[in-house]
Amino acid sequence: MVINEIFTSIQGETSFAGLPFVFVRLTGCNMRCGYCDTQYAYEEGIEMSISSIIDKVDSFGLKSVCVTGGEPLANSNTPMLIQELLNKNYTVLVETNGSYDVSILPNEAIKIMDLKCPDSGMSKMMHWENISYLTKKDEIKFVLSSRKDYEWARSMIVKHHLADVANVLMSAVFGIIQPSLIASWILEDRLNVRLQLQLHKYIWGHETRGV
Ligand code: SF4
Repeated sequence: MVINEIFTSIQGETSFAGLPFVFVRLTGCNMRCGYCDTQYAYEEGIEMSISSIIDKVDSFGLKSVCVTGGEPLANSNTPMLIQELLNKNYTVLVETNGSYDVSILPNEAIKIMDLKCPDSGMSKMMHWENISYLTKKDEIKFVLSSRKDYEWARSMIVKHHLADVANVLMSAVFGIIQPSLIASWILEDRLNVRLQLQLHKYIWGHETRGV
């Protein structure tokens, strides 16, 4: 598998925000979101076997692993890597952009799935059938750049009953839209979603890599 980086950090997003995690970032992505903050993962990386990835993860002595990218499901070996991590009793989060079939993932993996908003330029790439494979332990994430994105996300939440399917997250594109604005819209609409900040960017700054 081509791996961009393996590192420890505080989980900055999801309901697990604030907890220490090992991050395994795979190289390669089939999307090009306008706000992408991991462009360095499009091509940079080194070949590693699954066993050497597991050895590296083990060396950190943590309990939780986030498999991310790039887009981890662009690599057909990812489900096998995740199964190996689960076999070793890690809590495993998988961050996916929502364009690949998530039903190939082991059930115990916690799926953090994007629904790409219009301003990302990637909405048309969504694999909408994925919603039927999510459960209450999984999380659906909307990354918002504008009021237009918020209204689109709100309409998708209603249309697909997303609050009954999984935990729903909303986050602001860093430096583009104020989280306080999104907070006021959520409260105004009484939306049952979790507003999340990218905690790691507040701790270490938005341009720091590998933290
Ligand atoms: S899906 Fe993620 S990694 Fe891929 S372009 Fe979009 S933000 Fe970047």
